[in-house]
Amino acid sequence: MALLEKSVNLSIMHVEQKSAAEVVATARDAFNKGFTKNVKHRMKHLKSFKKFLDENEESIVQAMHEDLRKQREEARFEISIAVNHLKYLMANLKEWVEPKRPPKRWLELLDGVYVYHDPLGVVLVMGAWNVPLLTLVPVTGAMAAGNCVVIKPSHNCPAFGNMLAKVLPTYLDSMCYPVFLGDIDQTKILLEQRFDYIYYTGSTSVGKIVHLAANKYLTPTTLELGGKNPVYIDPSADLELTATRVMWGKCFNSGQACIAPDYVLCTKSVEKEFVLHARNALKKFYGDDPRCCPIVNDQHFKRLQSLMTGLNIVIGGRTDPLENYIEPTVATGVSPNDPIMQEEIFGPILPIVTVTCFKEAVKFINRREKPLALYIFTKNSSVKNYIIEHTSSGGVTVNDTLMHLMVESLPFGGVGLSGMGCYKGKSSFFTFVHKKSVLVKNFNGIIEKINRLRYPPYSSQKTDVMGFLLKYRRGPSWIWLFYVGIFLIGFVVGFLVFNYFALMNDMK
Ligand code: NAD
Repeated sequence: MALLEKSVNLSIMHVEQKSAAEVVATARDAFNKGFTKNVKHRMKHLKSFKKFLDENEESIVQAMHEDLRKQREEARFEISIAVNHLKYLMANLKEWVEPKRPPKRWLELLDGVYVYHDPLGVVLVMGAWNVPLLTLVPVTGAMAAGNCVVIKPSHNCPAFGNMLAKVLPTYLDSMCYPVFLGDIDQTKILLEQRFDYIYYTGSTSVGKIVHLAANKYLTPTTLELGGKNPVYIDPSADLELTATRVMWGKCFNSGQACIAPDYVLCTKSVEKEFVLHARNALKKFYGDDPRCCPIVNDQHFKRLQSLMTGLNIVIGGRTDPLENYIEPTVATGVSPNDPIMQEEIFGPILPIVTVTCFKEAVKFINRREKPLALYIFTKNSSVKNYIIEHTSSGGVTVNDTLMHLMVESLPFGGVGLSGMGCYKGKSSFFTFVHKKSVLVKNFNGIIEKINRLRYPPYSSQKTDVMGFLLKYRRGPSWIWLFYVGIFLIGFVVGFLVFNYFALMNDMK
């Protein structure tokens, strides 16, 4: 409530904006002038971005509340993920930008062999409404990689977008890192511009539009999409903790999260116990009137209401059309053919489909599109390993939900219809660079003698020698060096012991 009273109507702030073509042209000009290639410039702006997050936490929380009535702590959670990501980038940037020296063959022993990490140019990052800041986190990876970045928040979170467009330019160079606001038509015009990379987060259907637009210039693209994330609950799992963790994942942002658990697969007896614990967990979370945040708009509210029709609801089920609230809801006896099992739910409704064993659950998962996230609850490691090895998904968390996204060093992204490409960890940087191969030769006489092997007149003898020099050979591994070290230490110790006894003998 306090938050509501304090909030200002950010959505009516007027933000002057250049056309899409002008914004991209300015960013391209800035890139060509080489500002963002400078590592000090990158580091300075990453620090400024962090300062923006630190100093504007309250405005960000307010904006998200205004757009989505997002709960304060969930908004702060998003901010802390963004801050941690920035810290990770800053801690590793110097090492990542350095050209790497891959292993060489005999033929290149006297040459320089390098991989440079070139920024791509002008990158477009498009965010989604449900986690408006989190979906713009790839912006910082693109900045670290030395690109200019056009930042495009979702048109469905105007307060957040306006706040960003007003405040971010006071921290970042807006020629290099402009914020572009626009409705669907303006976004379409933006997508007609030429970019060097597009990083899109949102629904699969709009993802296809973005991919099609990118095709015009063969622009490489990452698509962070959604889908139905299964939860398999094994009879061996601690069902009380399982229910707590699944219900937390389902209620976070009212289930409006790309990695929210979508549906549960378990046996009939697990279902019975799970429902009992899920009810208790909700009571502990919310008391007698369980409410997460409201559903984003009337259209999604009505969609969810219609998905609930005909379900055997065992927990929750109440809705409030005036406020767009849907109570956290659990339904049992759900058939794979029910409408709720045909699309990503993106709301606080958890259907349970019963299976007879984990192998049937695997078959069920594999008959459907590859999910963004898969959750496995079990104490049995062979069940865990079997499911991980026999399914394909963007990521997996065992015995919890949502948490793989929080591990900074793990890449995050989808597979198949849940997306392509990833960010986080090293991927945040390496997604936005071109790995440029560089071979440096010199005019050394020995090298020229070797070079003559490839010049005409050709002979089979020359070709054989070339083949020998070009042959791939595995270099010595560290373990080999370890054994050599052990051998040398043993040799020295043996030598000293032998001499010691020889000396003792002489003294006798
Ligand atoms: P959205 O409406 O915010 O759209 C996403 C982006 O596309 C926005 O920038 C929007 O302005 C733009 N856009 C929307 N319609 C467009 C059109 N017709 N033409 C051009 N641009 C358009 O978000 P959404 O699509 O409703 O997002 C929800 C989906 O996003 C869910 O499926 C969710 O699972 C997925 N999601 C995925 C991730 C992830 O990291 N994989 C994160 C958050 C959300």
